[in-house]
Amino acid sequence: MAKEIFPTTIVGSYSKPDYLNDAFKEYYAGKISHEQLHKLAEKAIVDVIKDHEEADVDIVSDGEMRRSEMTEFFAENIGGFKMFGPVRVWGNNYYQKPSIIEKMTYKKPILVDEYNYTKSLTKKRIKVPITGPYTIVDWSFNEAYRNKEEAIYALAEIENRELKALVKAGVDFIQIDEPALSTHPEEIEIARKAIEITTKGIDVKKGLHICYGEYDKIYPAVLDFNVDQIDLELANRKWDIDFLKEHEFTKEIGYGACDVHNPRVETVEEIVAGVRKGLELVSPEKLFVKPDCGLKMLPRNIAFEKLKVMVKAAKVLRKEFE
Ligand SMILES: [Zn+2]
Repeated sequence: MAKEIFPTTIVGSYSKPDYLNDAFKEYYAGKISHEQLHKLAEKAIVDVIKDHEEADVDIVSDGEMRRSEMTEFFAENIGGFKMFGPVRVWGNNYYQKPSIIEKMTYKKPILVDEYNYTKSLTKKRIKVPITGPYTIVDWSFNEAYRNKEEAIYALAEIENRELKALVKAGVDFIQIDEPALSTHPEEIEIARKAIEITTKGIDVKKGLHICYGEYDKIYPAVLDFNVDQIDLELANRKWDIDFLKEHEFTKEIGYGACDVHNPRVETVEEIVAGVRKGLELVSPEKLFVKPDCGLKMLPRNIAFEKLKVMVKAAKVLRKEFE
């Protein structure tokens, strides 16, 4: 089989249906059980996969329907955390800021069930995203470790066990989400070491998703991370990739092809033109076409439209290069 060019994928999250958002609220208010919440999340996953398949995305995810939020979910499932009140993050979005109150422990596999369930619904390749140790610690209070660095490495060891469990279950593409990284470029060496610990002995495809912040301050240093792919937000930066060209891009790129903060659906032509610029960095089989970030903030129909247009754009480009 010829090498796939311009593979299309997602970053991870997808907008949750209202009934699931309501169910999360009811669950946290103690009105429904975890099992009831779980059932509704599974129902929502069926529809996410349906959207991804209909849009013809090559590498899919379950839309993170089971996850309350990208930090909170892991804090709830790893020992040592306690949840505090809601903290405002951006716009009108709130999340429960966790606190590490004692040494963290790995209780049991966190994402294996999620993967197995998704696999039962689709024949497409699946990517499993996990929030990285740097971001989880950066977005939590630390009352249990001497310093932030120590907490990050401890969590990296735990995540390494999780990744091993995922690989054992058959996962062949893992994405580590580290949105906090580009907001603290001065700590990039700590994050690099943390990813080294997290990915030790993990021989499947590994991506690193970074969004927000000042990319030019972490580049080219991120190329030294132990991952195969660097996944970036580029559409909302108008595909201004000049700073990336200043150094040979030695990895695959997860190329942000559509903006997740703007509800306007891009045209096929716009995306084709944006992605085409990426060919100045890597060859077509190393250029993964995907939205800038998770699609959870967009209304469902808009998210779906964006995926469809994005895949169409990738197909236009494929025709040109085949
Ligand atoms: Zn992101």
